[in-house]
Parts: sequence; structure tokens; C-alpha cells
Amino acid sequence: MPPGRAITPGLAGIRDEVDVVVVGLGITGAGLALDAAARGLTVLALDAHDLAFGTSRWSSKLVHGGLRYLARGHLAIAHESAVERGILMDVTAPHLVHPLPMLTPVGHDLTRARAAMTWAGLHAGDVLRRTARTSARTLPRPRLLNATEALSLAPSLRADALRGGLLAWDGQLEDDARLVVTVARTAASLGADLRTRARVTAATGTRVAVRDELTGVAYDVRARAVVNATGVWAGGLDEEVRLRPSRGTHLVLRASTLPHTRVAVMVPIPRTSARFAMVLPQPDGTLYVGLTDEAATGPVPDVPVPSEAEVDFLLDVVASAFASPPTRADVVGAYAGLRPLLEVPGTRSTSDLSRRHAILTSDTGLTTVVGGKLTTYRRMAQDTLDALVADGRLDAGPCRTSSLPLLGAAPPDELRRLDADARLVRRFGTDAELVLSTARGVTGLPDDDLLAPASDDVPVTLAELVFAVTDEGAHDVDDLLDRRTRVGLVAADRVVAEPLARRALELVRAARQGARDPRLHRT
Ligand SMILES: Cc1cc2nc3c(=O)[nH]c(=O)nc-3n(C[C@H](O)[C@H](O)[C@H](O)COP(=O)(O)OP(=O)(O)OC[C@H]3O[C@@H](n4cnc5c(N)ncnc54)[C@H](O)[C@@H]3O)c2cc1C
Repeated sequence: MPPGRAITPGLAGIRDEVDVVVVGLGITGAGLALDAAARGLTVLALDAHDLAFGTSRWSSKLVHGGLRYLARGHLAIAHESAVERGILMDVTAPHLVHPLPMLTPVGHDLTRARAAMTWAGLHAGDVLRRTARTSARTLPRPRLLNATEALSLAPSLRADALRGGLLAWDGQLEDDARLVVTVARTAASLGADLRTRARVTAATGTRVAVRDELTGVAYDVRARAVVNATGVWAGGLDEEVRLRPSRGTHLVLRASTLPHTRVAVMVPIPRTSARFAMVLPQPDGTLYVGLTDEAATGPVPDVPVPSEAEVDFLLDVVASAFASPPTRADVVGAYAGLRPLLEVPGTRSTSDLSRRHAILTSDTGLTTVVGGKLTTYRRMAQDTLDALVADGRLDAGPCRTSSLPLLGAAPPDELRRLDADARLVRRFGTDAELVLSTARGVTGLPDDDLLAPASDDVPVTLAELVFAVTDEGAHDVDDLLDRRTRVGLVAADRVVAEPLARRALELVRAARQGARDPRLHRT
């Protein structure tokens, strides 16, 4: 990456006039920065805390095909979701999104009628896949399994009442925050200036007041368009934007709690007709159990906290499906996120509120884009930039992002052939070698040290932590453990990894004193 094209904590050296200011660097803001930079516009993108500080790191990490929308009759949104899933898996991020088999056990609490309805839904989902032109090689067709086949994929299921299973496929992210960081890094590689620890205190359609949270210094930046992509905090910059956030909670278990679970397991939620709790195996040796949908009232916290009732609810729901159900003692972590749902007059339940994105323009000309989901971030950015170009506020060509691979992207076959550390390939794709060589150059340490996991249970390496500081704008231990990696999801693992994070920060700091590499002088 050429010098200066980076993600930088603080505001030192920013320009006072650009084409587009983007406020917020969750997936929505990162996607906007990428789209605008790819159209050749000058971009300043700002986050009060860090990349992926908000909702974007608290998701289920799924890349959905839109089945849920189909069930509610929202055909256009369902199709849009399926198309975006295909673009992510085939073009822009095949290194970060892989196919996830999802098993609905038949028996237990799934009545024959509900099984038939679920099977019909899975078939409709497959029609969506085909209309979105995603091949069955990328996402196989749904299949009926007998009880033996179902058990071989999830041996911890209760065998006694199991009659079989419904198997379908969707996309799963390596990690939601990693998607944000990769989109952000790709935007930076195209010239966007991305700043963290940069709080916007006021915004109109052509101006932002922004405070450097490291120094306290205030700046004023002019722009031809300002886009508010602050998710659940959007109302803080534009009081006309009214949100009704809903909280979604996940539990984190060790993979060994439900051994050899190779598929996501969908467990019907009692007394609902089409809602399921999910047990989701993760690439890092954990399992997530999710998720709730609770109206969240009151002020929006920086970091939402799961309630005890949500933890009990999730454990209760999944208990019926497993021979040795997880207990409270198995819960090694839990996290909650707030869905930024737009207030729609006349709706009671948050699950009825539209999940589609909305683009709103205030009286001051400030554009807010809110709603949507990780899966559709690219389309949200395209629609927003197209609207600003159509209004004559921006002078730019068409959107390029549907054919623009993110940094490190390559087809799965090519990734499998790479001669590089497997964890780095999973998280950085073809940039795995760049990560290692950067860490080598900065620290002078041998590869064995740079690639050693923090412990048997904690796979994070010094190489990725050093790269996070030099190339991904990580500023402190929290950035490293809670957003560049996700060790922080399990408190005990976080303690184990903390010395490694401190070492990475110290090694880069030492290298910066007297360094010749200009990337080391950024912060
Ligand atoms: C529990 C849960 C599970 C989900 N699961 C999925 C899933 O599996 N798949 C999927 O596709 N989608 C999923 N979603 C939806 C998806 O996560 C969200 O729609 C998406 O992450 C919202 O991103 P965002 O960038 O709009 O907001 P955020 O990620 O919240 O980003 C907003 C950013 O704005 C910054 N900010 C706020 N105020 C200011 C300010 N004044 N100045 C500067 N910066 C500011 C914040 O620090 C934050 O980083 C899920 C959502 C939830 C809640």
C-alpha cells in the first residue's frame, strides 16, 4: 500500500475540503468510503472510536440469502440479499465468506407440519439462489437427510427422537469485524482517508465539525456531500431520524461443549411458527448460540449488554435438541448488538420493522443511510452514492464495487494452494504473506515467533497483531483484541492474549523510532 493510504487514529494532517465525508466506520461507512473512492472521489471517513466499534461486530456473522424476507413476502429485498450474497462469495470476498451447511433436525420439537413448511421455505431459498445466479458449486442445493446422516454432521444431537434432518446452505463470514477492516483497507488502498478516534459533533450536508479524541483538537471540514452512517447513533447527528433499536444476543461456547458439530443447527423456538435459535460453529474453535430479538429502550449504550433472561432463554431453547445440553457453566462469553431499525408508525413488534435500508435527507442536506445488514452493505453504498450523483451533489461515474475484489480476495481453489500460514490465509486471503513479511520487517523476529498461537485455545498470532498496528489503524490493546481479532469475545482468552497485544504495540513503537519504512510513521 503506498504511503499515506492508511487507516489512521486521530486527525493530524487531514484536508479541510473533500468530495465526501462519511461519518461512522461500521460496515455501512466502510462500504460508502470504498464505493466513493472507487468512483474517484476524495473521501474522508471518520469514526468516533474504531473500525467496527458498533453493531457490525455483534452480528451472527452470516451472509444471508434473504429467506426471512421471502417468508414475509418481501420479494425484492430477498432477491437483493441473495444477489449480494453471491457477489460476496464469488467476487468481492470469497476469502472471508464460506458456505455454511445448516441443519434443521426433524423430530424433537419440529412437528411434521412445521418440517414440511420449513422444507418448502428452504426450496424457495434455493430458487432465490438460482435467480441470483449463484451456482450450486458455491452453495449446494438443500437436501433431506436420514437420522444417521444428521447425526454424523452433529453427533451431539439427541438421537432418541431424531427422524432425520433438512440440510441447506448459506454464507458464513470468517468474522464480521474482519469484513469491515478489509473493506476499510481496500478503500484506503484506493485513496480514501480513514480516521478513527474522530468524533463528529455536528454535521450538515456540506460541513462537519469533528473532534480528535486523542488530542481534543477540533476541526471543520467542508464537503460536497456528508453521509451519516452511524447506525443506532444516527439520531444523534440528525434528530429527524427516529430509530427503534432491537437487541440481539448471542452466547459463546467452546466447540468442545457440543463436540464435532460440523454444521449450524437450527432449533425451533417454541410457540413461534417460523423462528429458530441457531448453534453456529465458528472457525476459531468456538460455537455461538443466538439470537434474541428484544426491543431496546432508553439511551443507546456504547456496548450493549445481554440480559440474564436472554442467556436463560437461549440455553432453554437449544436444550431440547442436544443429548448433553449446554449449561450456564459452558457459557464462556456472551455479546449483544442493537439492530438499527427505523421507526415505522403503527408497528408494534421490532421483528415486524423493515430490515431494508433507508436513505434519508435532512433539511440541512445531511444524508443518512441506515438499516440493512452486513450482507447488503455494498448495495447500500451504491444506492446512496447513486442518489447523490443523481441529485447533482457529486460528479462521479457509475458504481464499480460489484466487480472490485476486496484486498486478499481469491477463489477457494487458489487460496487452498497458497503456501502460507492457514490462519492468516483464512483471515487475509492472498495477503497472508504480506502480513507475515510486514511483521518480519518491523520486528526482525523469526517466523516461528510471529506465527506461534497465544496458547492452545487462543489461536491469535503476533504477526496479525503487528500488521493490525502498521496497516489497519489499530491504536491500543482493545482495538487489537476486540476488533482486529475477536479474542475479546471470551474474557479468559482475552487475558491470555493481552501480553501478545502489548508486545505488538511495543514492537511497532520501537520500530517507529528510527524507522525508515514510511508506514511506520503514521500515528
Ligand atoms: C444481533 C445482530 C445480529 C446480526 N446478524 C447479522 C448477520 O448475521 N448478517 C447480516 O448481514 N447482518 C446482521 N445484522 C445486521 C448488521 O450487523 C447491521 O445492520 C450492521 O452491522 C449495521 O452497520 P452500521 O455500519 O450501519 O452500524 P455500526 O456498525 O453500528 O457502525 C456505526 C459506527 O458509527 C460510529 N459513530 C457513532 N456516532 C459517531 C459520531 N458522532 N462520529 C463518528 N462516528 C460515530 C460508531 O462508533 C460505529 O462504529 C445483525 C445485527 C444484530 C444486531
